[in-house]
Amino acid sequence: MADTPPSTRTPGQPGPSTATTGTATTSTSRRPALSPSRASDFKQCPLLYRFRAVDRIPEAPSKAQVRGTVVHSVLEQLFALPAAERVRERAHELLAPTWRGLVAEQPELGELFDGADDPQLDSWLESASGLLDSYFALEDPQRLEPESCELRVETELESGVLLRGFIDRVDVAPTGEVRLVDYKTGAAPREVGEAKALFQMKFYALVLWRTRGEIPRQLLLMYLRDGQSLAYTPDEAELRRFERTLEAIWQAIQRAGNTGDFRASPGKLCQWCDHQQRCPEFGGTPPPYPGWPEPDPGVETALDRAD
Ligand code: SF4
Repeated sequence: MADTPPSTRTPGQPGPSTATTGTATTSTSRRPALSPSRASDFKQCPLLYRFRAVDRIPEAPSKAQVRGTVVHSVLEQLFALPAAERVRERAHELLAPTWRGLVAEQPELGELFDGADDPQLDSWLESASGLLDSYFALEDPQRLEPESCELRVETELESGVLLRGFIDRVDVAPTGEVRLVDYKTGAAPREVGEAKALFQMKFYALVLWRTRGEIPRQLLLMYLRDGQSLAYTPDEAELRRFERTLEAIWQAIQRAGNTGDFRASPGKLCQWCDHQQRCPEFGGTPPPYPGWPEPDPGVETALDRAD
């Protein structure tokens, strides 16, 4: 691992061309980038950011996280079907094959259950069906034609900070107005995750604005566990402030990357943290600082996106 911290170009200096949504340029794809999950980690607790992005200590995926990945994938597949086929029954039919496909790609996920006959697997798939039912109670996918699903987005801010992430769904109205949609399937109560979810949505709104020159008309969070949705309308002044917030977070990450000083910041989200055993707040000791990782520490996993 290299021990140099992430760097950004000098403000005002020409940088690499901005990547457009949906693709990544080779010039920027390996540069350190900020993702909403990692930015949110640092904001929540710098030490958590370190464990995840720098030490890259594997975390055991929970059944709820994997269920979220499966449900996100089913919804993506659903929108790839002709509108007439986007019905509840079809979504349910996609669940088991999607789970099997995920296990074929990542066999370790199969260890969450005691084989294909584990009765817990049936009840887990049943709970995923419940999330899909919840989705269908919130909207009718037959009436929608998203511009894209699971869209990879990337942009470089004027300051040189590179932002990267995936948007669950982008809807564009006939009038051209853009709506960004995010499905929430996680185990945490809505009130605990709401600030984090809005942070993530503003991140995507900023990236879209900077790549397309248009501020999304609406950010829509769909909470499939409790069948509620939250719509939010960002404005330019707010996104400008948010841009400065992200730049400040990136500068703080750079400082911490230089020194290895990633402080623990305990809070109510500690109860979902996989790293309590090595966290000083819980009597643990972090491993020696390994230095800044190569390549990109900003990578998000499918599990990150399925919270
Ligand atoms: S347990 Fe809490 S304080 Fe410790 S690393 Fe995790 S989030 Fe941070």
